[in-house]
Amino acid sequence: MENRYRKAQFLQSASHFNQLPPGGAEVAFVGRSNAGKSSVLNALTQQKDLAKTSKTPGRTQLINAFSFLPQEWLIDLPGYGYAKVPVSVKQKWQAMLHQYLEERDALKGLVVIMDIRHPLMELDEMMIAWAIQSNLQVHLLLNKADKVSKSEANQTLFKVQKKYEHFQQVSAQLFSALNGLGLKTLIVQMEKMFEKTPVR
Ligand code: GDP
Repeated sequence: MENRYRKAQFLQSASHFNQLPPGGAEVAFVGRSNAGKSSVLNALTQQKDLAKTSKTPGRTQLINAFSFLPQEWLIDLPGYGYAKVPVSVKQKWQAMLHQYLEERDALKGLVVIMDIRHPLMELDEMMIAWAIQSNLQVHLLLNKADKVSKSEANQTLFKVQKKYEHFQQVSAQLFSALNGLGLKTLIVQMEKMFEKTPVR
């Protein structure tokens, strides 16, 4: 299967989504810090350091846009859940993320990256709820599946799927940025997101 995301190149960093280019179509990636968002983006694009893996929690949080076609983008949203970030800063990011999900016309879908050992934490659920409210496709990646046994991984996937079974726009899968498990499924899901125009 063709992986067109391999062509992704850094386009720009922005402190607010209103600085991103107008028009076009994009899929955004979000997750708790350390869940593996940068590693997932690197695995998806098959580039070693497209997204920088975060070594400095709490550093200035920017939205990073990567393009793989002139009007199609991958959006790396600021991670959440850094313990050391002041409450006021956290609230500001959350408000901005909420607004982005509600208002960004180019946005077709959201990929929420979670560590399979700590799925559906409070902020993950909040992001998912906002995305559902905004009629976006939401794809949940249970990353680091290599860290647990197969049966444990499948049990967690089942629980997560069960929780959102009444929401048609929510899907979930196992993933490992380390060994590439689930890459094809992710690509297929993203193609669907780019094809669909959400009714918003
Ligand atoms: P981010 O903060 O969400 O961008 O997370 P990073 O991509 O920086 O990853 C956080 C840590 O988890 C790093 O040490 C990665 O090497 C590790 N990591 C990310 N994905 C996986 C995975 O699928 N399996 C394993 N075993 N480690 C992973």
